Amino acid sequence: MSGLVVRGLVKQYPEFTLYLDCEVPQGSLTTLLGPSGCGKSTALSVITGIEDQQQGSIILAGRDISHVPPWDRNIGLVFQDYALFPHMSAGANIAYGLHVRSVSRQEIKRTVAHLLELIGLEGYEHRRINELSGGEQQRIALARALAPKPDLLLLDEPLSALDAKLRVRLRTEIQRIQRELGVTTIYVTHDQEEALDISDEIIVMNRGRIEQVGTPQEIYHKPQTLFCGTFIGTSSQIPEGDRVLFFRPEHVQVAPDDPRGRIFTNCLLERKRYRGFFYEYLFNWNGHQILAHGDGSLFSGASCTLAVDRKHLADLEPSGETTQSL
Ligand code: ADP
Repeated sequence: MSGLVVRGLVKQYPEFTLYLDCEVPQGSLTTLLGPSGCGKSTALSVITGIEDQQQGSIILAGRDISHVPPWDRNIGLVFQDYALFPHMSAGANIAYGLHVRSVSRQEIKRTVAHLLELIGLEGYEHRRINELSGGEQQRIALARALAPKPDLLLLDEPLSALDAKLRVRLRTEIQRIQRELGVTTIYVTHDQEEALDISDEIIVMNRGRIEQVGTPQEIYHKPQTLFCGTFIGTSSQIPEGDRVLFFRPEHVQVAPDDPRGRIFTNCLLERKRYRGFFYEYLFNWNGHQILAHGDGSLFSGASCTLAVDRKHLADLEPSGETTQSL
């Protein structure tokens, strides 16, 4: 059975229309990935019921919730700004949704203790929210969303307010907790690295439409559109007739002894960047930029042959827009 099934959904604003048709497999962590303004928040508003769709249906855990009010959809939400109740303790925040559902005191106590343990904050039950760090507050927000055992957990850019190191640590934690509970989860982000790291599946969105759905590996290695290819990672795009040849820098062989596949001769090295454990070369081939990885032994002005194995080439339709600037 599918966790969430969205069919033929249309949400229209005066200057923007969202079209959504997708499935989020039961128990999976699926990210909605796309640039700012592509419609991620709109998708969430319709799925949670904050906004009404003009067309289409939303089935969650086998139940048609298309016209069910938000509070009856059994969806847990976590936002970027935590939205915790500052005057309540951590424990009271987690228990909030359970009081509303008239769960017994004993059961509430058990659930709060279990969730605090799960998020690594045992003993924090009586702490005030304003005594907690940003990372701790976000864990409490996660526990609060999980307490009523939602059919769907929605995380809307949950780590954007935190610093880079904490973001990486917390997303690993979110992934662990999600796996442990097996709760169907949609994670909204504009951060491709975050999406590649934590997702079972990625739904790439652009201008109110889905561009591609796939595992992180599929999205990265087999982009179906130029937008997907260029939104994620770095790449080169060479126009060829009415198509675009697309490939990743790690698949470009620099000055190979026996060049095979698609061969580019007389490539001029214009720039190299130190990337830590490798160098990134920027070549000019007939006015087109080609990115490659190397050991840094070449210098600007060098001219050499590049080759890409055919299995690493994608032949894509030009979209008139790419998201990467070199
Ligand atoms: P994202 O979350 O991906 O940044 P949004 O869903 O917030 O994108 O916005 C997508 C588009 O929908 C934007 O062009 C925005 O202006 C428009 N939009 C969002 N909410 C409303 C609204 N309540 N009324 C009119 N237009 C809206």
